[in-house]
Order: sequence, then structure tokens, then C-alpha cells
Amino acid sequence: MRKEETASVRRASGGSAAPFDVAVVGGGVAGLSTAVRLLEIGRSVCVLSADPPQKTTSNLAAAVWYPTEFGRQDGVLAWARRAYDVFRELSGTEGSGVVMRETLMLLRTPDEGSPWWAEAIGGVERVGAGDLRSEWGSGYAGGYRFEVPLVEMPVYLPWLLKRFIRSGGVFEERRIESLREAGARAGMVVNCSGIGARELCGDREVRPARGQVVRVENPGLSVSVRDEENPGGRTYIHPRTEDCILGGTFESGNWDTTPDPETARRILARCSELVPELAGARVLEHHVGLRPVRRGGVRLERDPERPATVHNYGHGGAGVTLSWGCAERAVELVESAERELRL
Ligand SMILES: Cc1cc2nc3c(=O)[nH]c(=O)nc-3n(C[C@H](O)[C@H](O)[C@H](O)COP(=O)(O)OP(=O)(O)OC[C@H]3O[C@@H](n4cnc5c(N)ncnc54)[C@H](O)[C@@H]3O)c2cc1C
Repeated sequence: MRKEETASVRRASGGSAAPFDVAVVGGGVAGLSTAVRLLEIGRSVCVLSADPPQKTTSNLAAAVWYPTEFGRQDGVLAWARRAYDVFRELSGTEGSGVVMRETLMLLRTPDEGSPWWAEAIGGVERVGAGDLRSEWGSGYAGGYRFEVPLVEMPVYLPWLLKRFIRSGGVFEERRIESLREAGARAGMVVNCSGIGARELCGDREVRPARGQVVRVENPGLSVSVRDEENPGGRTYIHPRTEDCILGGTFESGNWDTTPDPETARRILARCSELVPELAGARVLEHHVGLRPVRRGGVRLERDPERPATVHNYGHGGAGVTLSWGCAERAVELVESAERELRL
């Protein structure tokens, strides 16, 4: 959008009772990414969030680029590719918490081709069962090696929030009861409320997929390992700077956010069996997060009944992986709504 147009958008909402051009509901990775992009096209933006970023599901994400439990839903590949590119670039920015991480994905069932998401990251290297045997045992039919962004969320979210505020954004820690309430603050609303969308806009297709992880001291690992088809439960090890995130579970419909000691014991056992250096690693924390899964996939659209509202929620186990792609699409939807509504 040209500068004069930007100014006119500001004037339009400035002339109405609404103090901001756009109110973004949600201060997780979806909300903050969208809010940053909106500021970059010249909008005045406030984020309304019931929780500070460090108390969101986003903060608990492992968080590596990977479209967990998504298939080729419309848009997913493009959104994931875009986030991959943005994070790759951010990995060169000191203090962002983003690094590029080599990953080994172990497969228990033979897979002839490349995974559907491979083209988003420039391809994967196939590894044969024979090459895995000496180090990983004979239980694997093959695997893939690839390099993807790993985002240390406790570093990245504060960095993103600072970027938003330094660029003129306003963050208000406040729960809202309805989208109408957000609409009183701005000409347009973008709903990035994650699992909260179930109540906020009555979307019964949104459900939790409970994820329990264990955070341990990093004994010197630098490669992510995934054994998603482990018969004992999905297993992954994601080394970060100081710690490793060991997972995990994906429990659909389970709202319980209390870590279960037996589940933690089994995660530790599976991960230590896979990577023996982890045996005896000091346990730092146990976490549970509720992934905002939505039947039908991500909701990224203009609300058919509320023309000044755009939804961007339901990213399930891949909210970081889809973040920048979805944020940029949400911004396009805001711009087209503004044009139509002459805001
Ligand atoms: C254990 C675990 C591991 C994961 N690993 C990965 C991974 O490796 N890679 C990956 O891409 N993804 C991963 N995910 C998934 C990822 O965390 C989510 O997809 C992502 O965090 C969703 O982001 P969000 O911003 O939509 O939601 P959230 O982070 O939940 O943020 C929602 C925001 O909305 C606010 N809100 C809700 N209701 C209201 C209301 N009424 N009023 C005001 N504010 C409201 C909340 O306060 C919060 O700020 C993982 C998740 C878990 C649990």
C-alpha cells in the first residue's frame, strides 16, 4: 500500500470512535506475527491478549519447523514455505532465538518418495535402512535428513513482542468476552485466539490436542531426532542452546494441563533408548500445552457474518511452522476488507 493510502486508513479510523486501525486478539505466535506484519504496512495496531506471550501455548512449542498432522490442505504448503524462508533469514539475526537445525527423521514404514512437505524446504535427503543400522538399530525402514529452523520460543516471543512495541504497536493484557468488544478498539479485528476461539467465536470444530514434553539439560546434542512411529508413542528430541525438549504426546480432546508423571517417565525412557546420551540428563521442567487443532484445518478467512473480522486460528501442532505464511495472508485479507468497507 502506498504512503498516502496508509495515511488515509489512519485518518479513517482516527475519525471514528476506534483508536486503532486493527485490533489483533491473541498474543501467541499467530497474533504477534500478524501484528508485526500489519505495522509494517502502516496500520496502527493493538494486540489484546488474555495472557502474556510467555504464558501462551506458543511458548511451550518445541518449536521446530514441521507441519505436524497436516496434509496438503489448501495453502498449507505455501504458508509453511513462507515461514521457512522468514525463519531461515531470522536465524542470522542475533537475539531472535532462531537457529537452523539438522534433523534426522526415522521411519518405521517404508516410504518410497519424498514427503509432501519436502518442496517447502528445498528437499530432503533419503537415508537407507542399511545406513541407519549401525547407529540406530534394525527397527527402521529408512529415514530423511533435512535442515529446518528451530525456534527457541522463550527467546523468540519476547524478541517478537519487542519488535512489535518498538515499531509502535500497543500490547494490552486483557481477556475479551466477544469479538464485538475488540471491534470497539479498531476498524478491523484479526482473531488469533488459538484454542480460545472455541469460546470466543463459538467454533466447536476447535479442540485441544494435549502435548506433554520434558525439558532436560542438553548433554551436548546438536541434531534433532524424530521417531514419530515409535510403537511406545511419538518420540522426538529437539536440542536447543541450553536444554533439550523431549516429547511427546498428541492426545486429541484432552484438556488436562497437569503433567502426568507416568507419561513423563515413558517419554524419558523412549528418548534415552533412542539417544543414550540423554540417560541421566537433569530434568529441568515438565510441560503440557494444548495444541489448537481444528477439524477442517486452519481458519484463515474473512468472517462471512462480520465483514470487519479476519480469522487466523486453528494451527494445531504447526502454529510456528505456519506463522509467517498465515500472518501475511491475514494481512492481505485485512487489506481487501478495508478496500471493500472503505475504511
Ligand atoms: C508440546 C507442544 C509442542 C509443539 N511443537 C511445535 C513445533 O515443534 N512446531 C510448531 O510449528 N508448532 C508446535 N506446536 C504447536 C504450536 O504451539 C501452536 O500451533 C501455536 O502455539 C498456536 O499459536 P496461536 O498463537 O494460535 O495460539 P496461542 O499460543 O495459544 O495463543 C493464543 C492467544 O490468544 C489469547 N486469547 C485466547 N482467548 C482470548 C480472549 N477471549 N481474549 C483475549 N485473548 C485471548 C491467549 O491469551 C493467547 O495470547 C507445539 C505445541 C505443543 C503444545
